[in-house]
Amino acid sequence: MGQLPAVTRHTAAAWLIICVSSVGAQPSDNPAAPRLPVFDSVAQMQQACESMLSLREQEMDELKALPLEQGTQETVLGAWDDMLIHYRDVAGSLALHAALDPDEAMRETAEHCRTRAGQLQGEQYQDKAVYERIQAAVPQRWEAIKLRNDLLRAFENSGVALEDDRRSQLRVIKDAINRLDQEFETRIRNNTDTVRFTRAEQAGLPPEYIERLGRDADGSIDVTLTDGDFKPFMASATDADARRRYYRAFMNRGGERNVEILRQINGLRARLAEFHDRKHFADYVLRSRMHGSAEDVQDFLQTVKREVDAKSREELLELRQIKARDTGQPVEQVRINAWDLDFYSERLRQARYSVDQESLRKYFPMPETLDWLFALVEDLYGLRIVEEQAQAWHPDVRFFRVEDSRRGLLLGSFYTDLYPRQGKYEGAAAFDVRKASLRAAQRPISVLVANLDTNGLTMSDVETLFHEFGHVLHGLFAQTYYSIHGGVSVNRDFVEAPSQMFEEWARRPETLRRLSDGCDRCPEMEPELIEKLDAARRFGIGLHYARQILYARYDMALAAGQSSEPLALWEELESEYPLGHVSDTAFPGTFGHITGGYAAAYYGYLWSQAIALDMLSTFDEGLMDAEQAEHFRFTVLARGSERDPAELLKKYLGREPGMDALITDIRGERSMLDEPASETQASN
Ligand SMILES: [Zn+2]
Repeated sequence: MGQLPAVTRHTAAAWLIICVSSVGAQPSDNPAAPRLPVFDSVAQMQQACESMLSLREQEMDELKALPLEQGTQETVLGAWDDMLIHYRDVAGSLALHAALDPDEAMRETAEHCRTRAGQLQGEQYQDKAVYERIQAAVPQRWEAIKLRNDLLRAFENSGVALEDDRRSQLRVIKDAINRLDQEFETRIRNNTDTVRFTRAEQAGLPPEYIERLGRDADGSIDVTLTDGDFKPFMASATDADARRRYYRAFMNRGGERNVEILRQINGLRARLAEFHDRKHFADYVLRSRMHGSAEDVQDFLQTVKREVDAKSREELLELRQIKARDTGQPVEQVRINAWDLDFYSERLRQARYSVDQESLRKYFPMPETLDWLFALVEDLYGLRIVEEQAQAWHPDVRFFRVEDSRRGLLLGSFYTDLYPRQGKYEGAAAFDVRKASLRAAQRPISVLVANLDTNGLTMSDVETLFHEFGHVLHGLFAQTYYSIHGGVSVNRDFVEAPSQMFEEWARRPETLRRLSDGCDRCPEMEPELIEKLDAARRFGIGLHYARQILYARYDMALAAGQSSEPLALWEELESEYPLGHVSDTAFPGTFGHITGGYAAAYYGYLWSQAIALDMLSTFDEGLMDAEQAEHFRFTVLARGSERDPAELLKKYLGREPGMDALITDIRGERSMLDEPASETQASN
């Protein structure tokens, strides 16, 4: 429950789709699992980029040349979806190379192509001739009606209806935002700064941690500004000054330039909203979300905040008591600093529940933990996950085909890239690189990315792994007619819900008990340990939510034009957070969520959490209830964005979603240990 950006960034962008038809692939077909093109050289990548862009232009030209009276569901909407499929076949790989390729020149080439592709796409969404053909297309299928509406809105958002010069200005703004966002991300990813700690400053660090980093001749270690190095240090280094020094460096890893980039992006977004006669960027974004306005979101955040305030004050007092005992100071004089939070939370969990995250690694070794995850989803959903050989961008990468064994169908495939290396995407994510399409008989491909410790995982690593795999499943189970609707192409304030729900499979006794099956070196998870883990999880929940609310309020305030100075606004809002503002830190320069697709959408993590817990309450017969899983798979996951999330949820739950389950969780009253049948959380 650290206070740092615990939330991972996800590529929920509309990457591709695919799918699984209930006709077609029979077991006897034994079709090959879909694989991605992987590039070996800069030249090869450049060539693929040129072909991709020129094919896209050519397909657009063909669409423009189509006589209006010939505009039909297939000639316009089908052709549009085909164009996206062809484009994403290459663009999906480029996204991976940009984020994951070990070679910097390859990453830069991929990034450069993505910039050009983004510009081309921006131009295309302003094309009047294509817009007219989409207007003229007469849809018959309900999926086509949704697609047509989505496209018309996307064209209108790009300013297709504006006068020529205004339209060009809008494009310049959008291109500038994309370029700045890429620069922001690249600066974080390519940051090679390190912080040095002497032998004395290493007190409390696990020996495996020090061994992994390696000491130099005088016994010092150099740590990088990545989560993988930072989090364990903050939880275990006893030297408060060392923690403070690392905390400051980590919070400033984006540098002044990134804060300036955020300021510029924010200004450009305000202008973008003006073009659409919207009062601010939040207003512009939210009109197509589950929450329709900034006020609506602020109300939601306030409701949650009221619950969280009391809980986090309680927890903070407990942490101060521990620190007071540790330092011999009176509790009234003790303050928990930002760099103390993880350390004393860990101390408290060890003292009170005898749970220490480092000692959990032996229960969750890699790759056996991944095998356990696979075995659970195989049982739950009737899948078969089989490793195969495939060309990849790094030797760590593995490739798996996924079959629906109950129906004898090939669903799709996924890659895993799980261990850290220089220049790799920070944190964890699922890349939905190819989407399902029934129409095009295309199967999906996802990529599971993380930066895990090869010595084994902590509880929060395990939850992250399950979370990201939840996104992978969302992509694999898509059965959407058009690729554009597949998998995680759903609204930003819903996309996290299935994954947040799936984190629960990492925590419950009924799944944890199976950890040692098929793993000789995994110690058995004793019931007492599971109980302690549950109690330990519940401690710190108030402070965790407090941080999430801070991020969401900050994002919404910025997007709603409350301030044009990101750092000043951050200082103001962070000062209201229980731990207060830390001077000389610039978290906004690291907050890539909001320079990218989570602008005016960060609240979606909290809203998704409310939905996730509500959906979880339907598994009242236990998490391994295959019938319920099947209902979830086909009602929610398979539908992607073909239907609005509110409609899917109502169909799945049989009622409107509610916030009761979230409130129970915030109060720390939700236990994993209840017998399944007696679970009553999240009733409406
Ligand atoms: Zn996620």
